[in-house]
Amino acid sequence: MTIPFFDGHNDTLLRLLEKPKAERLSGFIDGSKEGHIDLPRARAAGMAGGFFAMFPPPVKSSLASVAAPDYAKGDLPPLLELSEAAKSTNGMASLLLQLERAGALSICRTAGEIRSAIEAEKLAAIFHIEGAEAIDPDFDSFEVLYAAGLRSIGITWSRANAFGTGVPFRFPADPDIGPGLTDAGKDLVRLCDQRGVTIDLSHLNAAGFRDVAAISTRPLVATHSNVHAICASTRNLTDWQLAAIRESGGLVGLNFATGFLRQDGRFVADTPLTTMLEHLDALIEALGEDGVALGSDFDGAMMPTEIGDVTGVPHLFDAMLAHGYGETLVRKIALDNWLGLIERTIG
Ligand code: ZN
Repeated sequence: MTIPFFDGHNDTLLRLLEKPKAERLSGFIDGSKEGHIDLPRARAAGMAGGFFAMFPPPVKSSLASVAAPDYAKGDLPPLLELSEAAKSTNGMASLLLQLERAGALSICRTAGEIRSAIEAEKLAAIFHIEGAEAIDPDFDSFEVLYAAGLRSIGITWSRANAFGTGVPFRFPADPDIGPGLTDAGKDLVRLCDQRGVTIDLSHLNAAGFRDVAAISTRPLVATHSNVHAICASTRNLTDWQLAAIRESGGLVGLNFATGFLRQDGRFVADTPLTTMLEHLDALIEALGEDGVALGSDFDGAMMPTEIGDVTGVPHLFDAMLAHGYGETLVRKIALDNWLGLIERTIG
């Protein structure tokens, strides 16, 4: 039995962008043994689609240092210039558009379009930017990105920008670090609400989270975060944050990154699936059965060995079933809850 699933976060576009130009499209379409997601492996795993993040990496940094952050440093990376961010965001947006033109996936603007893509057996992609550095304060680039398909924005990655401040990677630590949204950040929230663009809270600090919760009229979403009470990383959600998400009718996508799962906060591949189940149990307890989904962080983080890459996701479903989750609940977490949330936020 293959259970189709939708995933709240991958960094596959950045992985592809870092390859030589001639290998970027083919690396995804024909597949390779590199990274966590390509088309053949996604199909084999039952991946119906997901949020394809455009993450402008810190200057002079590699994907590897992002995938397993050095908690000993615990500082925010420097600000990223608009021009730098626009360059890499354009590169990743271009890749997503080219993949669509090549027939590898379908950029979806509504839950209905995702359902149609699934019926047509096309991988359904939500155009997501992780960190709004590529957006200018006049929101001209917002219009261009929106026209290209943008429907989800993480206001910040784990750094500060013109709109707000993200959490530094710290463990153990509370995410209540740094100031809230700027006036431009508050305007961005209103614009997203108005246009039907999901706001992703995953990297935002606590003050920014409170601002979004106060301003936004839509369900609150953390696409790839876990439970702070189990793993006290700044990237995870504290009790009051989970309560606010529940109250809004929102959703949290389980992050598979080992350092955001483990009680000791270490990035170690030898992390059992039972650790993921502990977070799922706690998320269901806090959010209800409609508020929990997947947010793997594939191609952006160190995975547990039993997951490995996208083809390991069915192992997690097997573990959920063996743990006593009914098939209906597993299918909700796998696909239905993301579809419901997207319907409630984007349309
Ligand atoms: Zn992330």
